[in-house]
Amino acid sequence: MTVPHPFNGARLPVAILGATGMVGQAFIRLLADHPWFQVTTVAASERSAGKTFAAATRWLEGDMPAAVRDLIVQPCDPALITESVVFSALDSGPAQELEPAFARCGAIVLSNAKSYRMASDVPLLIPEINAAHIALIVTQRAQRGWSGAIVTNANCATIVLAMALAPLHAAFGARRLFVATMQAVSGAGYPGVSALDILGNVVPYIGDEEPKLETEGQKILGTLTGDAIVLAPFIVSAHSNRVAVEHGHTVCMSVEFDVPVTAGAALDVLRDWRGDEASHGLPSSPPMPLVVHTSLDRPQPRRDVQRDGGMSAHVGRVRADPQLHIRLVAMGHNVIRGAAGASIQNAELLAARGVIRAG
Ligand code: NAP
Repeated sequence: MTVPHPFNGARLPVAILGATGMVGQAFIRLLADHPWFQVTTVAASERSAGKTFAAATRWLEGDMPAAVRDLIVQPCDPALITESVVFSALDSGPAQELEPAFARCGAIVLSNAKSYRMASDVPLLIPEINAAHIALIVTQRAQRGWSGAIVTNANCATIVLAMALAPLHAAFGARRLFVATMQAVSGAGYPGVSALDILGNVVPYIGDEEPKLETEGQKILGTLTGDAIVLAPFIVSAHSNRVAVEHGHTVCMSVEFDVPVTAGAALDVLRDWRGDEASHGLPSSPPMPLVVHTSLDRPQPRRDVQRDGGMSAHVGRVRADPQLHIRLVAMGHNVIRGAAGASIQNAELLAARGVIRAG
């Protein structure tokens, strides 16, 4: 089932903030042939503003789409950018002030930054898991007096964690998680980690990553009650590591549930999961939200990360844990499923639900 075109076949003009960076470029690639949205404005820092997009950008993958080459990069100023949908690939520093400025001026801002993810009136959205949380937009607008809104996607490793955990939590109630990540270099943006720091190496620290892994999942898997999210009651202990992988964050986790769970029961639940119906048929939704691997040495970033355009999450090595109940490995594309693709899928959900409208 495909969701009907929300704009009667016309593509809605959209702007990208931070368009020159790692995530911004992924937005450009993913939106180049998007059926609902068309990139009409690219914006970045004052360093890039005024140049053509081609001149301002060190393009990282494939060929730059012809439609954006000659666009003049704009400063991130809501007085100059009038599109009603704004995809933000800004760092959290500039996002802190700029994203509300756009929302105040009436734009729906789809944010990748951490700045507003945990705000109580801001959806932290994964359409397969918590589509109902878009109702927070009503509260957000009432509280902040905005005609637009900010809708966020989670930290790139947390999205992978949450996709694997969602069906298990719904079936068995997660109580405690022990998590260790192996995160790709592209997660640090461009130019990111120096080659001399990462080649042949593992860096056992990623600034500010562990607190996100330890808190965002509870909001994503929380329950909308009235006009607030009641956080899911599990606790997470996280270790984050940067490894010499280009794309794809791997998350090894052991989980304790409210009830004893066998590996077979966990596998059945993971295989059966289709995600929230609200996500079905959106242009960016993968055929199945989770790919369940049975080979002992999968999932692997090199072999699996590009499947379904990078929008699937992968799980494997589902087995009993000698201390908690179940352990498994999850993996997903940090720049696609964990960032630009996630924002685009969120925008698709908002369009399908009439929050994003033409005109
Ligand atoms: P990046 O490659 O460093 O790109 C940053 C972008 O922000 C560039 O376009 C840059 O423009 C622009 N920018 C920097 N300072 C600015 C300012 N003061 N005003 C306006 N624009 C400014 O970073 P990234 O990896 O794409 O990450 C972007 C955001 O997504 C961050 O919040 C990050 O945490 C989040 N995120 C990243 C990933 C990932 O896998 N990389 C995953 C999930 C979330 P110039 O080129 O002009 O400097």
